[in-house]
Amino acid sequence: MGRRTLKEKQSMRGLMQDWPLLCNRMIDHAAAIHGEREVVTRSVEGPIHRTNYREIRARALKVAQRLERDGIKLGDRVATLGWNTWRHLESWYGIMGIGAICHTVNPRLFPDQIAWIINHAEDRIVMVDLTFVPLLEALAAKLPTVERYIIYTDKAHMPETKLKNAVSYEEWIGTVDGDFAWKIFDENTAAAMCYTSGTTGDPKGVLYSHRSNVLHALMANNGDALGTKSKDTMLPVVPLFHANSWGIAFSAPSMGTKLVLPGPKLDGASVYELLSTEKVTNTAGVPTVWLMLLQYMDANKLTLPDLKVVVCGGSAMPRSMIKAFDDMGVEVRHAWGMTEMSPLGTVGALQPQYANLKGEPKVDVMAMQGFPPFMVEMKITDDANKDLPWDGTTFGRLKVRGPAVTGAYYRLNEKVLDDNGFFDTGDVATIDKYGYLRITDRSKDVIKSGGEWISSIDLENLAVGHPKVAEAAVIGVAHPKWDERPLLIVQLKQGQTATREEILKFMEGRIAKWWMPDDVQFVDEIPHTATGKIKKTDLRVKFKDYALPTAAA
Ligand code: ADP
Repeated sequence: MGRRTLKEKQSMRGLMQDWPLLCNRMIDHAAAIHGEREVVTRSVEGPIHRTNYREIRARALKVAQRLERDGIKLGDRVATLGWNTWRHLESWYGIMGIGAICHTVNPRLFPDQIAWIINHAEDRIVMVDLTFVPLLEALAAKLPTVERYIIYTDKAHMPETKLKNAVSYEEWIGTVDGDFAWKIFDENTAAAMCYTSGTTGDPKGVLYSHRSNVLHALMANNGDALGTKSKDTMLPVVPLFHANSWGIAFSAPSMGTKLVLPGPKLDGASVYELLSTEKVTNTAGVPTVWLMLLQYMDANKLTLPDLKVVVCGGSAMPRSMIKAFDDMGVEVRHAWGMTEMSPLGTVGALQPQYANLKGEPKVDVMAMQGFPPFMVEMKITDDANKDLPWDGTTFGRLKVRGPAVTGAYYRLNEKVLDDNGFFDTGDVATIDKYGYLRITDRSKDVIKSGGEWISSIDLENLAVGHPKVAEAAVIGVAHPKWDERPLLIVQLKQGQTATREEILKFMEGRIAKWWMPDDVQFVDEIPHTATGKIKKTDLRVKFKDYALPTAAA
């Protein structure tokens, strides 16, 4: 046997083209192949606005050209505080198209948190909707890195403002001709950033790359994930500032799917109107949004004959909601993900072995958070990082790996991956033999009773099934014998009254006896975080000194 030459020992490289996966290529494709496809917006100013992908691309190029004229360079951060509108969408592509980083800021955060985030990111420009101008005016003195504010509106609607170098978006892009070419750079260049809400500690910056955004769009376009086509119409109720609008800002253009953008109005009546008049086939949002929509439809005896698929995630989808959509003939896709995952982790389409289920067993499957598309790997482990079985009942810490999962946080010198490159999601879950995930808790919310874990989410889902209950939250309260026991906190529907016994009776027999809450407390309002999740930290403070009736024994 002759010895192999050094050259042979090196791995042989493929001979295909080097075509970096850059975000602008998605809007290029949309404009070239689906240029006439509409993007319809309920504008912040009020009227419905219509444009298409060709126009969006043309104006995105103007944004890029004008940013460059303003001295914005590769790697500079440009923030946006905006609703889902065509202007916001085109500015994303414009910012990323010169290698600047599009930093979506969640305007629902506390003002101090917003200031902290903008300063941490050192944003040079802030693009902002009319709605949030007063918010920024109050903060501007604390934002030294910001050189200019661009208001997403035209000259006619431009408010009086003292914001530094404020200009209306239309006037600003009106000064360039759009004769411009996207910059070409390495696909691993940062494209966008989004801070997690930081319910504990400071917010953490997740920094997406062009490559991760493109791969994530392909993942979202998987038929079992969001899977919209060029003949579909998608209404993302989920905001662009909430984990990339679950990637829809990229996946829809890359498929040529018509987009309907709800602007600032996310109430039941407004969302219904757009779903109905634009004949929307696919939509995506958090449970609170669907609750408002279903209540509005129910009260007014309305239908949505064109709607085919509702994607619901961000927090667990109650069974009653799954049933309501299923009864309407709408396919529910329960999804789980997080900012750190760009954000898709799992989506609940029905695999063939589950496809013919009916009634409660079908709801059982749809109440799980679905299975991962290709490019998300998962595992569940115990506290010692030992793998746990995929038997649908064992819970453990949920860890994930993939090209659109974060590997580190922006400017934080903290190791976030285990030795095999898995990221700990902070969630607790079971996985069944087909890969279906069931989130049973956040690792910090799980109730540890006598060394066993009780899922707060399971208890909450059960409690909201009671016809008088609007929302429910379960927290662990200190107990002398069991360490922690569950306390159920209930917000009743408007005008309803109920007793502790009534609620507990409803839950009895539907869960293991030792999972039963030790007590029920009624509150006027359950507090929420900026992304619409129950704010358990507040509830823990509120019930800090609460003594369970069972604790005295
Ligand atoms: P935040 O910054 O509030 O954490 P994310 O959107 O990143 O915002 O939140 C991700 C978390 O939301 C997940 O880790 C999980 O706990 C929760 N979550 C998301 N989707 C679901 C779901 N379908 N069911 C239960 N929990 C969910």
